[in-house]
Amino acid sequence: MNWYRLVLGLFLLSLAANALFFQPGPPPMQTSTPPEDCQDSPLPRPVPDDGTAPVTGEVAQAVENNSIVEINYTVVENSSGQAFTVTLPSGAKLVNQSGFSQDGDQLRTIPDQGDRLTLRYALTKMGHDEEGQFPNASYTAGPEWIIAPTPEHGGPDVTLQPAASGFIGLDILYLGEYTRHSTMAGCQNITIIKPEATGFDPEPRLNMLSNAAASLSGGTTYSTVYVFPSPKPIPAADGFVPEFQNNIIIEADASIHSAWNVWIHEYIHTRQVEYSGENFSWFQEASATYYAAQLTLEQGLISPIEFDAALARYAQHQPTTNLATAESEDIAYRWGAVVLARLDASLWQRGHTLAEMWNDINQYDGPSYSKFERQLSSRGLSESRLNETRAIVERNAQPDPSPVYTSRMSWLPGALLAHISAIYQSFVAIVGGAGLAIAGRELWTVVGTSD
Ligand SMILES: [Zn+2]
Repeated sequence: MNWYRLVLGLFLLSLAANALFFQPGPPPMQTSTPPEDCQDSPLPRPVPDDGTAPVTGEVAQAVENNSIVEINYTVVENSSGQAFTVTLPSGAKLVNQSGFSQDGDQLRTIPDQGDRLTLRYALTKMGHDEEGQFPNASYTAGPEWIIAPTPEHGGPDVTLQPAASGFIGLDILYLGEYTRHSTMAGCQNITIIKPEATGFDPEPRLNMLSNAAASLSGGTTYSTVYVFPSPKPIPAADGFVPEFQNNIIIEADASIHSAWNVWIHEYIHTRQVEYSGENFSWFQEASATYYAAQLTLEQGLISPIEFDAALARYAQHQPTTNLATAESEDIAYRWGAVVLARLDASLWQRGHTLAEMWNDINQYDGPSYSKFERQLSSRGLSESRLNETRAIVERNAQPDPSPVYTSRMSWLPGALLAHISAIYQSFVAIVGGAGLAIAGRELWTVVGTSD
C-alpha cells in the first residue's frame, strides 16, 4: 500500500467531484404566469368541419411524387355567385389545375353547384416567387407523409379534409399517420402533430413549451399553437413559423438539451410581432435565440456553464452585415442574442427583466431601437451600458461575451470561453479518471492482499 499514491488519487477525485457538484445551479424562473389573455387564433383558412361549408376540398399526397399535394374541391352550393379564389403561399409551386382561371398568383373561378375543381402543387424553396425570410428553406416530404403549406382561400367558405390520415392547419398541413399531443398553458393550447415516422417523446417537449409560455408575459398569445415536427431535416433552416402566426414546422430531432433549442426558439416567434421600427429588425431572431438559451437554462435542460459557453461562441461570430438592419442574417441570431443577454443581466441587477418589457415591445409592428433604448433607460440602465450597446447595434463593435454564471472566468480570452463547457467536462473526465485509476489501484492492493 502506497499511502502517497492513495492520498494523491483521492485528492484528484475530490477535485473532479468538487468541479462536478459545485457548479452554479440554474437561475430561478423569472416569471411563471401562464398566459391569461389569449387572442383567437387567426381564423382557420379551411373553416372547421361543421358540414355546412359551401365548398369542400379533399387533400391527398400525390401517388407518383411525394412532394406534390393534390386538392379536389367539390362545390356544394354557390347560390350567391361569389368568386372562389385559391392563393398558393410561399413554399408552394403550381403543378397543374382544372376548373380555375389563373390571375397572377391567384386561381379564380365563379363556380356552380356540383362543380369539381382540382389543384396540384409541389413543395419548392420559400423564395421561389417572392423574397421570403428564408428563401432557401422548404417544407418536407417522405414516403407516406408530407408537411406542406396550406393554400389561402377567398369567397365561399371552404372545408379541407385529408383524404386519409392527416391534420390541416391554418398555414401548415400534414398528411400521413400521426398522433396528436396537447397541453394547456393558461389559456393557450399547445398541440404537437407527431408523424408516425418520428421517434421523440412529446411529453417533455410539451412540458417545456408550456413552461416557456409562462416565462413571457404578454406579447402575441394565440389560443392555439400547432407544432409540426418534420421526420426529415428542413433544408436551410432548423424550423420556421410562417407569417408570425401559430403554426410551427421544426426538425423533429432538434435537441432540447442545447442553448440553440429550436423548439423554444420557434415558439418565441409565435409570441412576436414583425419588428419594423428603425434599427430594430434584428430583435426578431435575437430575442428568439436569447430566450431559447435563457429558458432552456431556467428549465435546467442545460447548465449555466453551457449557457455562458454558447453566448461566448455567439460573441465570437465574425459578421458580414450590420446588426442594426439585420433580419435573418447570422449576426441577428448571434450578436443579437449576446446584446440581449447582457442587457437582461444588467436589468436583473436593477430589479427588472427583459421579459417584463415584452408586452411593450410586442405592440403592433414593434418599437424602433431608440424607443427600446428609452425603455431600458427608464429601468435604470446606465448611460455607459447604453452607449456600449448602441456601439454594437449601430457601429458593429464586437460584443464582449461577459459570462453571467462563470464570471470568475471572464479573464479568459473569448476563444477559450466559447469552449469553456467542453474544457470543463474534459477537466472533470481527465482529473476524475486519473484520481480513480490511482486511488483505485491502491485500494485494490489492500483488498487483494487482505485474504
Ligand atoms: Zn428564428
